[in-house]
Amino acid sequence: MARVALVTGGVRGIGAAIARALQSAGYRVAATYAGNTKAAEAFHAETAIPVFQWDVGDFAACGAGVKQVEAALGPIEILVNNAGIVRDSSLHKMTKAQWDAVINTDLNALFNMCRSVIEGMRSRKFGRIVNIASINGQKGQFGQTNYSAAKAGELGFTRALALESARVGITVNAICPGYTHTEMLDAVSPEVMKDVILPQIPIGRLGRPEEIARAVVFLAADEAGYITGSTLSINGGQYMGG
Ligand code: NDP
Repeated sequence: MARVALVTGGVRGIGAAIARALQSAGYRVAATYAGNTKAAEAFHAETAIPVFQWDVGDFAACGAGVKQVEAALGPIEILVNNAGIVRDSSLHKMTKAQWDAVINTDLNALFNMCRSVIEGMRSRKFGRIVNIASINGQKGQFGQTNYSAAKAGELGFTRALALESARVGITVNAICPGYTHTEMLDAVSPEVMKDVILPQIPIGRLGRPEEIARAVVFLAADEAGYITGSTLSINGGQYMGG
């Protein structure tokens, strides 16, 4: 029987490309979303991938959601923590609500989701967890103390859980995309894109969601069992540090 993969925020953007790529690779896939029912229904109609709605920032909802997915598809063996938001502002103008929203959705969600699947993975002695972090967690970004902190936190979480899980067949890895063409970038003006962002990218263009998805399929494979605790940068050469 094909393994079951769950992609959070898997109905739009990078997550939708990941869900599609895992489906093409033969996995049985479920995707979650927060509130964009229209996008979720359109995605389901096109792919037949079952969709589930809950807030990844809500611990109880994650536990209940995981139970729902497992009742429908079977034990989750691959978890892709992809859901994420931005609420940009310089720190001196940032509200507590902007800080909390990003920490909750981008970082606390990793605890909420991993805690909900880890015991099952440990008992079955197999698991693949892939956390979608960001280049801005590696290098920092103006206006993103909240997002950079959450995404850097994801990298520490990834390494610690990789250590804890190494002996029981579970790998935990992170991917740091650079600028990738999704609705998340709609907030960026065309002038800033052309004059500020594109000149920073040696390859000279934005990434495509499918280019991130390809790496998830690679890390999810049974054959990727010796890769754990790693951070894979996919950013067109924009940042080559750790
Ligand atoms: P999008 O905004 O296109 O999609 C985000 C997805 O996450 C949506 O499906 C959304 O649900 C879901 N989501 C948001 N908040 C929650 C929540 N609280 N609970 C459950 N689901 C939620 O984002 P991208 O595809 O651009 O980004 C995907 C990931 O990649 C994020 O973690 C992001 O930080 C990261 N990333 C993106 C980059 C980029 O350039 N695009 C660069 C680097 C990293 P709904 O559809 O219901 O709104």
